[in-house]
This record gives sequence, C-alpha cells and structure tokens, in this order.
Amino acid sequence: MLRIYNTATRKVENFKPLGEVVKIYTCGPTVYSEAHIGNLTAYIYWDLLVRCLRTNGYNVKRILNLTDVGHLVSDADEGEDKLEKGAEREGKTVWEVAETYIDKFKKDYKTLELVEPEIWARATDYIEEDMSAVDAMTERGFTYETTDGVYYDTSKFERYADFAKLDLEGLQAGARVGFSDEKKNVSDFAVWKFIREGEKHAMRWGYLGRPGYPGWHLECATIIHKELGEPIDIHTGGIDHIPIHHTNEIAECYAAYGRDLSKYWLHCNFITIDGEKISKSLGNVYSLSDLDERGFSALDYKMWVLSGHYQGTRNFTFESLEAAKVRRLAWRNRIAECYQKEISGCGAFEKILEAVNNNLNSAEAYALVDNSELSLEDWKKIDELFGLRLIADSPKISEETQALVLEREKARTEKDFARADEIRDKLAAQGITVKDTSDGPIWQYI
Ligand code: AMP
Ligand code: ZN
Repeated sequence: MLRIYNTATRKVENFKPLGEVVKIYTCGPTVYSEAHIGNLTAYIYWDLLVRCLRTNGYNVKRILNLTDVGHLVSDADEGEDKLEKGAEREGKTVWEVAETYIDKFKKDYKTLELVEPEIWARATDYIEEDMSAVDAMTERGFTYETTDGVYYDTSKFERYADFAKLDLEGLQAGARVGFSDEKKNVSDFAVWKFIREGEKHAMRWGYLGRPGYPGWHLECATIIHKELGEPIDIHTGGIDHIPIHHTNEIAECYAAYGRDLSKYWLHCNFITIDGEKISKSLGNVYSLSDLDERGFSALDYKMWVLSGHYQGTRNFTFESLEAAKVRRLAWRNRIAECYQKEISGCGAFEKILEAVNNNLNSAEAYALVDNSELSLEDWKKIDELFGLRLIADSPKISEETQALVLEREKARTEKDFARADEIRDKLAAQGITVKDTSDGPIWQYI
C-alpha cells in the first residue's frame, strides 16, 4: 500500500485512487532559460512517484505543462513576463525562446531517463480555455476588473487561506504602501492581464476588447479541466508553489468549475549547493551539461537526488555527487556479478518497494539495495523502479572479451606477467577490469 504525505491535510495518508486511471499533474518549467540542477530535482522525485505507482499496478495518466506565457518575474503580478526577459537577453522572439528551452528541457528529461508524461501541455495552446474559465469565474462573481487586468477577489473564496495556512490579516497589514491600489485584498491575483498602450508584450490575445494574456496560475487549472477533469488524484510541485501558485490554482478551479482540483498534493523541498542557495551571483547555477563537463552523467545526478528524501532539505556538493557515481558503478558491478555466478534474491525487492511505498523513502530503499542479496531479476525490477539505466549500461561482455579474461588468468598462473599486463590494458580499453576474489577472478566495469 502506497502512503504519501498530503500537503492538503498535512498528513501521511494511504493512497486511494479516485478511479481506474491515476490522474497526475506536475507543474512544469517556465521555458525562458536552461533548467538548473535544482529545477530538475522535482521531475526526478515525481518520476519515482510515477514508477512506484506503475510498479504497484496502477495505470497512470500524467500531464506536465510547459509555461511559455504569463509567468512574471515577481509572483505578485508585477514585473516583466519571464519569456519577454529571455527574448531580450537572447535577441530572439519569445516564440523562439520557448522553442529553444522546451527542446532543451525535453532533452534533459530524456537523459535523466524520466518517464514521459502522457501529455506535454503548452500554456499557449490553452488560451481559449483560459478565456472561458475567466468568463465562468466572472459569471460566478469571483472577479473584478482593474486598469491592469481581471483580478480574483480572494475574499469570495472562504477556504482561500486554508491550503497554505496563510495569515491573510498579517499579509494585509504587511502590504507595501501604494501596492497596486486597485486590488481589493492583498492576496488577490490576476487571472488575466491587459497589455497597456506601448507596453512590450509580444504574446497577446484579444479578450474583453483589448490585448492581453493569461495570469500564470490559470493554465494549470484549465489544462487539468480540459485534459484530465477535476478532481485529479495527485498534483505535484515544489514547496515554493504552496502559498501562491497552488493556492491560486485551487481558488481558480473552485471559482470556474465549483470543484476541488486535486485529492493529494505532493511538494518537494529545495536543494542547496555547498550550503548556499542556487543563484547566479554565487556562480553555482549548474546545468546537466556543467556536470557532464566535470565527468558526471545525468544518471549520477539522478542517483544523488534519489539517495535522499523529497521532503528533506538536501545539500549538493561535488563530493556527494562523486559518492553517488561510485555507488551507481558499484550497483552495475553487482549486476556484472550476477552474470558470473548464481545469485538468488530472497524476496528483497518486495522490501525495497515497501520502502518506496512509505512516502517515497528512496533513501531507505537505496540502503536496502546496498545491503541485500539481489538476483538479476531483482535488479531489473530495481531499474524499472528508479530508472537508472543500470541494466542497459551493464551489458554482458562478449565471448571474445570473456576469452581474454580467461587468457589473462592463464598467463598469470604461468607467471607470464608481460602478457597478463598486455591483456589488462586491452580490457581496460573496453571499460573492463578483472578483480581477484576468494571465488577466483571476476570482471567488473570501470
Ligand atoms: P525558478 O526558475 O528559479 O523560478 O525555478 C523554477 C522552479 O524550480 C521553482 O518554482 C522551484 O519549484 C524549482 N526550484 C528552483 N530552485 C530550486 C532548488 N534550489 N531546489 C529545488 N527546486 C528548485
Ligand atoms: Zn501549476
């Protein structure tokens, strides 16, 4: 039985699906720059969630959205649209910027061996639906217009503060003087933004008689409504999404469709790097290609991410990444061992799955993998569960290579060390080494 921590109830709960197919929505990237390793952690943890559900026999339908419009630099409906900012930086159009970073993100996604969502949903493909949702919210009395856009009146939704346990009075008291005078409540947010005369905003659609674009949170509510139907089973995101983005998605869904958005809400924590926040000024905004340049594969990184818990604060260091790399190689070499001698697992995989079923405790599952006797069949299941390419990256050696291993052994017993060394070098060129054990020599990957 899968148990997961539900942010909506602040409790670990038994997972009970709503229907035949488990409907999942993952808030995806804003495609205005390359993803850094911090951004990627979420997709790695949610990949484990999907793989775990599948291992438990569930059918999953998942959407991952790509935000290509409306996400402003500040979460308070102020500042530039992130896509416009990317376009200025790169001297490209917003559409080109979106294409570039959607491609890059999908490439990272593949190299990390993440299970593809059933639907990649691009925000700009749902503009009609956004407009209908705003119409519905307005008809139901949840919005008001300002010179700047259509705003959600959060005082109309009684449960607005519940999800994030917001202190609305405190927020109101702390509001900056002069801050958006036309807003009725400090927590009100734009569901649709108007583009003023002379304002630079290339992505624009005519609605309510003028050009504009959707507010950021709306896409998630409308995509879910159109593609999955609310309520869905599981909605995932980063912890930063709780107080604004997800709170607003829930409010919009209620106002437009009168329904709850999701039964379970999962949020992953942030990572630090060498004890610091990830930030340009610290020069620690690493992408997967930066790791690759330092000799670490995307899967070494995935190995590192899953060695800790999604709700924990994790500190990334290159030493810990090195340890993850060594661990992954050690696991591959245990697969190599399975090719060379009979190893019968004793139901160890069940325990590993149990650990993951316990609120995705991959750290405990990893410790079990380290310390259990595992058959080749177990390793195949482990690989399915974690998506680490353990099997694909651990091929059996060819007959010729096997013959070389035996020849080296013979040369050594005959004290022909020159020949033995020559063969050792040949094997090394194929990424293979021979280790002497109490059971005789065995080959390993380097
Ligand atoms: P940003 O581009 O900084 O707005 O980040 C996009 C999303 O990536 C955020 O909403 C977070 O959920 C996630 N994210 C950003 N930084 C980190 C981090 N250091 N660790 C984990 N997730 C992060
Ligand atoms: Zn979202």
